[in-house]
Amino acid sequence: MNEEAAENLSEIKVRIARAAAMAGRKPTDVTLIAVSKTHTVGEIAPLIAAGHRNFGENRVQEAQAKWPALMIDSPDIRLHLIGQLQSNKAEDAVAMAHAIHAVDRLSLVTALARAMDKTGRRPDCFIQVNLEDAPQKGGCAVAELPTLLTEARTANLPVVGLMCVPPADLEPAPWFALLAKLARDHGLPALSMGMSGDFESAIKIGATHVRVGTALFGERA
Ligand SMILES: *Cc1c(COP(=O)(O)O)cnc(C)c1O
Repeated sequence: MNEEAAENLSEIKVRIARAAAMAGRKPTDVTLIAVSKTHTVGEIAPLIAAGHRNFGENRVQEAQAKWPALMIDSPDIRLHLIGQLQSNKAEDAVAMAHAIHAVDRLSLVTALARAMDKTGRRPDCFIQVNLEDAPQKGGCAVAELPTLLTEARTANLPVVGLMCVPPADLEPAPWFALLAKLARDHGLPALSMGMSGDFESAIKIGATHVRVGTALFGERA
């Protein structure tokens, strides 16, 4: 199981490089975020030993339980928080994350800005866009993006790009293309899109950060 994750890692890196080459991009333009949510420190350690450094977690509490110990030996690990974030967790998130991928509303922008002022830490921020405007899902509506972006920039958040989770049952490429267009329109260089089932497609459309869990670690319990 553990060795399997390290083997999967090399395979996924090859697939990333191939997808990047097909799009005339460099493999180093794409950051592979190993999504380790629900997986134990014991399952994660072989990937760190194999030299992997970018990891993603959904929940602040789970990240706090797992990552401080792992980071003592590998202080260059970059932790990405990719899940919906409650405003009352903003300070904990800012204290440990290197990037926050699900900034999606003004109250969170305000909480993150305050946390950054207090801690002096400034993780990269991605605005999550709810491309299909599904009310129960995270992300700001496409129509609200310009306002939220202005608010985030006014609050001095280091906004680097956009993030999306396309609807699971539809062809992802058109959603990726829409996110890429929105990022271009707003002068944002980073695109967090693509998961286990569709990261190659996302890379061809410009993803700079792919978030891969299952293809690395196997199915989650
Ligand atoms: C769990 C999760 C992923 C990883 O999904 P896989 O299909 O396991 O690769 C990516 N992004 C987000 C926001 C997630 O919650």
